[in-house]
Amino acid sequence: MKRNLETICIQGGWKPKKGEPQQLPIYQSTTFKYETSEQMARLFDLKDEGYFYTRLANPTNDAVAKKIAALEGGVGCVLTSSGQAASFYAIFNICQAGDHFITSNNIYGGTFNLFGVTMKKLGIECTFVDPEWDDARIEAEFRPNTKCFFGETISNPGGCVFDIERFARMAHNHGVPLIVDNTFATPINCRPIEWGCDIVTHSTTKYMDGHATQVGGAIIDSGNFDWEAHAEKFPGLCTPDESYHGLTYTKAFGKMAYTTKLVSQLMRDLGSIPSPQNSFLLNLGLETLHLRMPRHCENAQKVAEWLEKHPKVSWVNYAGLPGNKYHALAQKYMPNGTCGVIAFGLKGTRDEAIKFMDNLDFISIVTHVADARTCVLHPASHTHRQLSDEQLREAGVAPDLVRLSVGIENVNDIIADLEQAMNKM
Ligand code: PLP
Repeated sequence: MKRNLETICIQGGWKPKKGEPQQLPIYQSTTFKYETSEQMARLFDLKDEGYFYTRLANPTNDAVAKKIAALEGGVGCVLTSSGQAASFYAIFNICQAGDHFITSNNIYGGTFNLFGVTMKKLGIECTFVDPEWDDARIEAEFRPNTKCFFGETISNPGGCVFDIERFARMAHNHGVPLIVDNTFATPINCRPIEWGCDIVTHSTTKYMDGHATQVGGAIIDSGNFDWEAHAEKFPGLCTPDESYHGLTYTKAFGKMAYTTKLVSQLMRDLGSIPSPQNSFLLNLGLETLHLRMPRHCENAQKVAEWLEKHPKVSWVNYAGLPGNKYHALAQKYMPNGTCGVIAFGLKGTRDEAIKFMDNLDFISIVTHVADARTCVLHPASHTHRQLSDEQLREAGVAPDLVRLSVGIENVNDIIADLEQAMNKM
């Protein structure tokens, strides 16, 4: 039966049977016992389904993955040990040395580095495009060996809203899937698959957890992309895998081809699964995601409106503000609110921005975002410090940009803390 998001947040994934725990159990075990050698052999021959080793599957992880798949409206979900691992695997599952992909240039700094530096070392080339370019200029970047297009629903830290339908159309014109990192919007505010996106990724470390307890990631497949229609581009999915019983994923698993390949090949060979303990913590966060997101948005809207009027603030970027350049896109894709993250600039020198942050009381300076607690960061001196000034500008990060992640405390207290710190500048 189809359930609403609020019900999935609470009830999705774990369905206890008679006498079983109401709360999702933590199966903190590397391995699972069988009674005969034959039983174990049948698992390896893919004749039976069952758990045997946690790197490949674990009941706690699976329950949480099922919940996230349902929240995003996908056919399958794989949890990873970090959001970085999710971004890497989402692409590495369909790209190999000699291949190319395209990404929006305003993505999170860690992803920017992964795509531009580390994946290049593996022989996978990435082109960074400005999503503001017109279609013809962007489409000119597709090559015969291009395998996907990547973007963030709401970019971190710039707060740019990604026009999912537009990029899905362009990707599909060139026979490749669109992958969207939906970390900031969460499925409560936006479900990219409904707008034509094929694969969704998350850093579950952020709102999904919401309490800064675990680092994790997720990859959700819509099951909608027709790999067979572009079989020459995706041999990994459409030709036999000799390391996996000679099976062809698309033929053997249909809509689950991408997810099955990711688990049975990448997780088998590279690992990066979350611990069951972390999945349990993530699940607790998910149980209140539908309550927290509206409050984050409500608080952030009030803070953004207050910042916009403050004489020491030079600019505010929050898509919830009617004058914002992304307002119309946000209204289309996220009519109930975007997220709690605001980017703004302070008048004055870089040192004054640092003074402002140092004078905050309960609002904390942390390398984190999208948390129940309000927090602040200066990307040019913190998360993005490995980028040159030119790369910073390319990534849409102004040197005076302060990233404020508005939490779910009382909004008047948040504003009072900001005000007293600005008074000391
Ligand atoms: N994607 C986005 C949008 C992020 O903000 C981050 C981290 O800040 C990541 C991916 C990477 O996630 P993680 O820190 O869980 O590896």
